[in-house]
Amino acid sequence: MTLPNEHLLDWLRDAHAMEQQAEKMLTAQAERLEHYPELRERIEQHITETEGQQRLLVECIERLGGTTSTLKDLAGKLMAFGQAVGGMTMSDEVVKGAMAGYVFENLEIASYTVLIEAATHAGDTVTADACRSILKEEIAMADWLKDHLPQITHAFLQRSADPDQEAKR
Ligand code: MG
Ligand code: FE
Repeated sequence: MTLPNEHLLDWLRDAHAMEQQAEKMLTAQAERLEHYPELRERIEQHITETEGQQRLLVECIERLGGTTSTLKDLAGKLMAFGQAVGGMTMSDEVVKGAMAGYVFENLEIASYTVLIEAATHAGDTVTADACRSILKEEIAMADWLKDHLPQITHAFLQRSADPDQEAKR
């Protein structure tokens, strides 16, 4: 038997590991981007948001009597995904990176949707509110990426066809 509070704490720790992975991926992406300033700027904004999300999650975890020092190995599970994004050397890395970013934001959206219900179920309205405010930022980032994928693809294809320009990042 596992009490609702234990699941909640577990999932908050998973989310914290996910946000650490998000920060690594986003930082790697932003550092590599040279020719797509608008995308880079949006990613940098989301890095700041991600740092705030980590702080909120730590507060929730500690309020429930947990600690982030014994992180479950979700970070490891997400590593393959992170490497696909972070270690990009593909000729179309800007496009693949934006696609992977969109997928990752949707993983975050799913995670916070689950957490809001778990927190509500456990009667922890503070955590539910924190997760709602994080969820808003994840939805905004996912929407931005989806809306800008055509533009990013267009810019990439144009740069690709020009022998004097680097397109991939
Ligand atoms: Mg996040
Ligand atoms: Fe995010």
